[in-house]
Amino acid sequence: MAYSYDPQNIFARILRGEIPNKTVIETEHTLAFHDIGPQAPIHVLVIPKGAYVNFDHFATEASAEEIADFTRVAGRVCHMTGAAPGAGGGGYRTISNAGEAGVQEVPHYHLHVLGGRVLGRMLQRQD
Ligand code: 5GP
Repeated sequence: MAYSYDPQNIFARILRGEIPNKTVIETEHTLAFHDIGPQAPIHVLVIPKGAYVNFDHFATEASAEEIADFTRVAGRVCHMTGAAPGAGGGGYRTISNAGEAGVQEVPHYHLHVLGGRVLGRMLQRQD
């Protein structure tokens, strides 16, 4: 499978320090930061530092170390934001959009962590 990564995408520019971000957590392989257009009181984006376009690219080609680090950071975000039910929060939703059907805007893999309110049903019917 050939994946084409655009190094000029906005998250690549954030990772290079060309655009500022409000960082929540940074590790060797992962960055978590607040979404610029929050869809809920809690809206954090978790991205790998590696050049992966979407979830299936990351899951296929990232190292075990990158995948473990990313997953741990996402879990820490759920707790740090107070959203995690196990930490007394009201719960959260994680979303990863991919491609045209997934309506992905930024072609660098990212996980949305949303919470702070009841988020409604997972998908709205289009018919
Ligand atoms: P997607 O539609 O690709 O799943 O989500 C992209 C997300 O990136 C959107 O929620 C959008 O608000 C966010 N976003 C786009 N540009 C920037 C930016 O420059 N900074 C931050 N923090 N978030 C951004």
